[in-house]
Amino acid sequence: MILLVSCSLCKNKAIVSLNYAGVSLCGSCFTKNFEKRVSKANKEFKLLWRKDRIAVAISGGKDSAAMLFVLNKLTEKIGEIELIPVLIDEGIKGYRNNALEEAKKLCKKLGFSLKIYSFKKYFGMSLDEMIKKRNSLNSDFCEKGACSICGVFRKWLLNKAAQELEANKLAVGHNLDDVAQTVLMNLFRNEPSRFHRFGVLSGSEEKELFVRRIKPLFFCPERECAIYSILQGLPFYLGECPYSSEAYRGEVKNFLNYLEKKSPGVKFNVVHSFLSLKKELEYCESKKQKTGCSSIPVCSVCGQYSSSKVCKACEYLGELSN
Ligand code: SF4
Ligand code: ZN
Ligand code: ZN
Repeated sequence: MILLVSCSLCKNKAIVSLNYAGVSLCGSCFTKNFEKRVSKANKEFKLLWRKDRIAVAISGGKDSAAMLFVLNKLTEKIGEIELIPVLIDEGIKGYRNNALEEAKKLCKKLGFSLKIYSFKKYFGMSLDEMIKKRNSLNSDFCEKGACSICGVFRKWLLNKAAQELEANKLAVGHNLDDVAQTVLMNLFRNEPSRFHRFGVLSGSEEKELFVRRIKPLFFCPERECAIYSILQGLPFYLGECPYSSEAYRGEVKNFLNYLEKKSPGVKFNVVHSFLSLKKELEYCESKKQKTGCSSIPVCSVCGQYSSSKVCKACEYLGELSN
């Protein structure tokens, strides 16, 4: 859509309207606004520190392209921070292989070398093979959605990759839309306990367990990540994962988009409400710790961080090897 209005900040021709803020911006003001938002999140949540070695999860899509670009810019200003782009190859034919090519182009353009970690190598099966296996099982496991399976192994492998690369942090490209969806999904599924493990900055300081995760795009709407990537001329893959139709997330996404259209700012409201709730939860948690009621949970099979005795990745691998 071509806008016939001027930029609210400099009076150049606007290219984008941000309805939730009631402003229209030109390319240059939009870019500054986007980068300022990431920089503000960094300052407020103290995401980036000198001497950090950060594994940056790249998918070949627009969000992680925007994240790598903006992090590269920001860390150059701060100095003494190393970024290592990492791609998890789940083994999804016709999708991840195409996205991988764009990720390679992106890294080449920005002067990084890309580290690739595959499901096949670490779990003995690609996601395509896992889904085939799932479909042949007679247990409850055949009810598991592809994204639940993918998500568990992906999270485990990203953590493993960060550990192997001796990174002290892992940056993931979750944007504001993803965050708002996750918050609602946890509420709809009655899983509020997941809130305390989720945030702009999460994870343990002891890297043997769960490498600290940072989400620099926490306050950047998905649409703006795409516009930012396009404005910077970044390569990214637009295709959709063939399993995405299995995802409950898609329904929540449509619901939120519908509400956002009717009342601009809804997504920001969900995210800010979540952060306020989280503060309360953390207060309760710290009180619990003071009374000695908490311990650091570890998977008894693989030794990785886990909220239960056996982590989900080990539980799923057990099911899949039946
Ligand atoms: Fe994995 Fe689902 Fe994303 Fe596809 S859509 S990459 S299956 S989480
Ligand atoms: Zn402007
Ligand atoms: Zn495990």
